[in-house]
Amino acid sequence: MELSEIKGIGTKKLEVLNSMGIHDVNDLLNYFPTRYENRSIVKNISQLKDQDNCVIKVKFIDKPVTRYIRKNLNLTTAMAFDDTAKINVSWFNQPFIRNQIKPDTTYYLYGKIQRNRNQIKISSPIMSKKFGGKIGIIYPIYKLKKGITNNDMIKFIDYALKNSINEVKSVIPYSMRASYKIESKRDAIKNIHKPTSYAEFKKARTALVLEEILIMQLAMRSIKISNNSSDYIEFAKDDSINEFVSSLKFELTKGQLDAIKDIEQDMISPRRMNRLIQGDVGSGKTVVAEAAMFKACKCGYQCAFMAPTDILATQHFESVSEDFKDSGIRVCLLKSDLSKADKEITLRGIKSGYFQIIVGTHAIIQDFVEFNKLGLVITDEQHRFGVGQRKKISDKGDNPDVLVMTATPIPRTLALSYYGDLDISTINEMPKGRKKVETYSVGFSYEKRIANFIRKQINLGFQAYIVCPLIEESESLDLENVTALYDRLNREYFSDINIGMLHGKMKSTEKDEIMKKFIEGDIKILVSTTVIEVGVNVKRANVIVIYNAERFGLSQLHQLRGRVGRSSDQAYCILINNASTDQQMERMNIMVTTNSGFELSQKDLLMRGSGDLLGTRQSGIPMLNIADLEKDAELIEKVSMVCDFILGNKLYQKDEYENLNREVVKFKEKLLKDVIFN
Ligand code: ADP
Ligand code: MG
Repeated sequence: MELSEIKGIGTKKLEVLNSMGIHDVNDLLNYFPTRYENRSIVKNISQLKDQDNCVIKVKFIDKPVTRYIRKNLNLTTAMAFDDTAKINVSWFNQPFIRNQIKPDTTYYLYGKIQRNRNQIKISSPIMSKKFGGKIGIIYPIYKLKKGITNNDMIKFIDYALKNSINEVKSVIPYSMRASYKIESKRDAIKNIHKPTSYAEFKKARTALVLEEILIMQLAMRSIKISNNSSDYIEFAKDDSINEFVSSLKFELTKGQLDAIKDIEQDMISPRRMNRLIQGDVGSGKTVVAEAAMFKACKCGYQCAFMAPTDILATQHFESVSEDFKDSGIRVCLLKSDLSKADKEITLRGIKSGYFQIIVGTHAIIQDFVEFNKLGLVITDEQHRFGVGQRKKISDKGDNPDVLVMTATPIPRTLALSYYGDLDISTINEMPKGRKKVETYSVGFSYEKRIANFIRKQINLGFQAYIVCPLIEESESLDLENVTALYDRLNREYFSDINIGMLHGKMKSTEKDEIMKKFIEGDIKILVSTTVIEVGVNVKRANVIVIYNAERFGLSQLHQLRGRVGRSSDQAYCILINNASTDQQMERMNIMVTTNSGFELSQKDLLMRGSGDLLGTRQSGIPMLNIADLEKDAELIEKVSMVCDFILGNKLYQKDEYENLNREVVKFKEKLLKDVIFN
């Protein structure tokens, strides 16, 4: 059946449905309610509590009267009663109700009750003579767009359920459904739209969530870095890591040492390393990566070290070159905008094995890059890479070991779902002597004071970042843009101070030049877009000012704040904002009171739900339709074991897995295309 064959769907409504992501009957049936109103329980008026939402069964005492309060506002009221008490019923701007209400007739009303000591009221209730239409059911509420009402959705879905439910096929294999007592997909779909009890809804939801999680996890595991051969690299047992650690100028924290130990174990074992290092911004992940690269090089392998931005790749190239300068290890930088000649030399050096460490952006995963003996692949700020990119880079070479690093802690359930068998090491402490970054939330009127403060810090030998959200002029959003802000600050406050500007639209060589000057302390203040968001490490910078901070998400603010406080000096983060909604104010408040990224991400998760943790490039395609990574944590753990069982026993080869396999392939394609962590 086509959508247009459903009663009530004409071209207009069809268009709206399409814009809601509903293109066929199957989409329609899988468009689940976001919540329900329980309109199925009739209560006595005398039992009602203030703020109850409920159904009452009443007759009216007399004909309603309408009062005109002012222009465009009138109020119709009437008294109604049941066997237990009287209730005052009112409707705004619905004078026609007067003529609909008949004496001696029973009505069901649904709405919110207001009750104080001497009066019980219900205002603008939904009204029906029969029990079983709008009232008398658990009423589903759908997310809507203009042009489609909730009642439309209910009618369309009803029609589809009546005429097309038989086309729905179960995805979970029958044997599994039987052993876990999961209801059929048809029943689940029917009951999620029209549950007759909470228990029925719960059962339907479980079946649908389970199916979704199962598909997701199997898809994720099938992406798991190509596993077609068993000859993984077994790096030699040697003393190289100790050698590296003792060459360092500072003492590593216990968290760093533990992570390095985990890595060493993985490297010398015959299995492949597939490890995530998570540690808050500033916890010192780079040096951990260096330890791994040092060992790989000493064992005769090449390493690829990939960063999500040009600036970060360049910075890593510089610090790796510096740290390895006495070791004889040869390092190169591969970016997309190298000159043709440079690129050729670099590529040749990579292919011949001359370069042992290749630092770069995603340019490294382009097909024309050939390695000589790639043994280790590291991606920094992993959350910025797509799942597809991650796979592509680890497919290079002969099963290289894989290390990924992130400052954005991934909740365990998410890690489990999205990485399957990834091992995790957590660095949960900061290098000794670090102070908490003092964070302030202020209004725009503080600008002058802030400028004075920055000047004072510069006089003490420090530097500052000033971040603004957008680069193009955008009147509608009223945001400071980087060029305008740079000009204005330069003119109004800092005409005698060397200030620089950085944004994503600049050429890479220009960016490098500016960054270099900032690192060397030539430039004292860097006015920048969020291109500095991840990884940038300039120790003398101790102030970061963020304009329109209310426009940023929590994890992004935390990343930005992480640009300062990278030494034992006191650092400051100033959030200039116009926060007006509760959410925005809450975010500012969390930033001011919370310094730990782990705590922050927990709060973030609570505020926005895990759905938003996954950004999809094409916005509007939520990866998960019904499962909730937080709420369904327990199920996710269970399903993870079920997946082990399915994969371990190759159950997917059985006929009854056909539908499931097909869905897994579909989901996998979506994942490779769309998912990035952010
Ligand atoms: P992130 O985890 O955010 O990537 P980095 O690796 O950039 O952090 O480290 C931040 C800064 O801290 C760097 O300047 C680094 O040299 C320094 N650092 C790392 N580990 C230690 C340590 N154990 N003691 C002192 N400083 C350290
Ligand atoms: Mg880093």
